[in-house]
Amino acid sequence: VSAPIRRALISVSDKQGLVEFARSLASMGVEILSTGGSARALQEAGIPVREVADHTGFPEMMDGRVKTLHPTVHGGILALRDNDEHRRAMSEHSIGAIDLVVVNLYPFEATVAAGADFATCIENIDIGGPAMIRSAAKNHAFVTVIVDPSDYAPVLEEMATGKGATSPALRRRLAARAYARTGAYDAAISGWFAAQAGDDLPERLVIAGERRQLLRYGENPHQTAAFYGIAETRPGVATARQIQGKELSYNNINDTDAAFELVSEFDPEAHGPAVAIIKHANPCGVARAEPAVGRTSLADVYRAALSCDPVSAFGGIIALNQTLDGETATEIAKIFTEVIIAPDADEAARKILASKKNLRLLLTGSLADPKAVGRTVRSVAGGLLVQDRDNRIGDDTARRVVSKRAPEAQEERDLDFAFTVAKHVKSNAIVYVRNGMTVGVGAGQMSRVDSARIAARKAADAAEAAGDAEPWTKGSVVASDAFFPFADGLLTAAEAGARAVIQPGGSVRDDEVIAAADEAGLAMILTGMRHFRH
Ligand code: 5GP
Repeated sequence: VSAPIRRALISVSDKQGLVEFARSLASMGVEILSTGGSARALQEAGIPVREVADHTGFPEMMDGRVKTLHPTVHGGILALRDNDEHRRAMSEHSIGAIDLVVVNLYPFEATVAAGADFATCIENIDIGGPAMIRSAAKNHAFVTVIVDPSDYAPVLEEMATGKGATSPALRRRLAARAYARTGAYDAAISGWFAAQAGDDLPERLVIAGERRQLLRYGENPHQTAAFYGIAETRPGVATARQIQGKELSYNNINDTDAAFELVSEFDPEAHGPAVAIIKHANPCGVARAEPAVGRTSLADVYRAALSCDPVSAFGGIIALNQTLDGETATEIAKIFTEVIIAPDADEAARKILASKKNLRLLLTGSLADPKAVGRTVRSVAGGLLVQDRDNRIGDDTARRVVSKRAPEAQEERDLDFAFTVAKHVKSNAIVYVRNGMTVGVGAGQMSRVDSARIAARKAADAAEAAGDAEPWTKGSVVASDAFFPFADGLLTAAEAGARAVIQPGGSVRDDEVIAAADEAGLAMILTGMRHFRH
């Protein structure tokens, strides 16, 4: 049986909902103790409140660094109400029980995000707040703790129906939330400190995620799953606004991320419209504007991306590098698509897609900066693998033409495009491109020559589907995410009709590979940088 809440301590930085909450507490006869700013806000609203300093007989000091760190406060929170020793200590030292602790912390994360200087960030590390939260949560058998204004209502509800008391079940739930909050707070502080010390890969890595969505299931229906957001502002699937459609699934989120990261490589200023279609995290069609072949509009670009592999594109994820317009939406609506992600969508597009109730439309506001530094994390049994984002495409200083024949201008444009796409294809990656569109993608094979063969076969299929007599590899260029260990993969591409190759180089047999390229009349660029992706 829980005792009614008689005394509350309120100390909050986020004063949202505070006055209404405190007024309800006061009306239920709860005595309110509060710190400087919080007490002032309550007084101004005419709510009876007592300063903590008055309660402890000890003033707030040192710019608020010491406000509530006092045995009268912590004894009042931590005392076991059913323990004789504890009760004796309370009466001996005139410690009054505190039954409800309402604390939200100095906004450390927001201060860092706002780009504040070092001293300001340090000053925004809350000390007394976490101590009270942790005390109250530890003693949840007797004490109720609230760290988020969204919990004001449920607590008031229970008090109203429970003769001023909360239930043990609610107190336990709130205690779990409380420790999650202090844990996340310290994670943010430790991450910031490590970065300040220039230590990108600290000895202890603490990551705090916030559950954004309980997913219906994971990669497969028998796996439970949830989506957690981390303190990251990179535009993408985690920050996008969903305009319509069913909830995203686990696989949707993973694929949509891959799609948007890929299309973000193509700044519309430099490339014009670009479209990527993704299946199982691999692109099955990517295209950009190519005025030389009359491909200029976003809808044209979409049709080109689709034509690369229309069979695979069914049920795919589509990413666009600019505002989705009505014409393109009409085209997309012709086949089943799971998700569209774009910086924005105009009125016409929204209207057209509105009838496709299941189709998810996600708007990000902008593209993600492909050059931005960042971290990727993946789990293995018993550990996490952490690395920098692959935020480059080849090594500008090492890039060189190694063949006798130099690529022509259009070939060079296509080589750059192909290599950029290859960076986003699971290894071993082989990507054929002709006139600003992929014509064959070979992904995820254990040998490079298999990827080359599969990509060539897909290009033949695409041509056949489009009613073309010639395979689309004829006159194409080809990119490889890593070096050709032997000449065979390269020769497969040459046989398929490729005219130019881009690859990192760096094999012990580079000379052999270069000689084979020359013999086949291929132009070849080495980029000096590998782009494995697994
Ligand atoms: P107020 O606006 O009421 O003056 O201050 C509220 C904030 O002070 C809350 O965010 C609370 O977590 C924090 N706080 C409470 N006690 C202490 C303390 O002893 N030291 C520090 N650094 N912060 C405290």
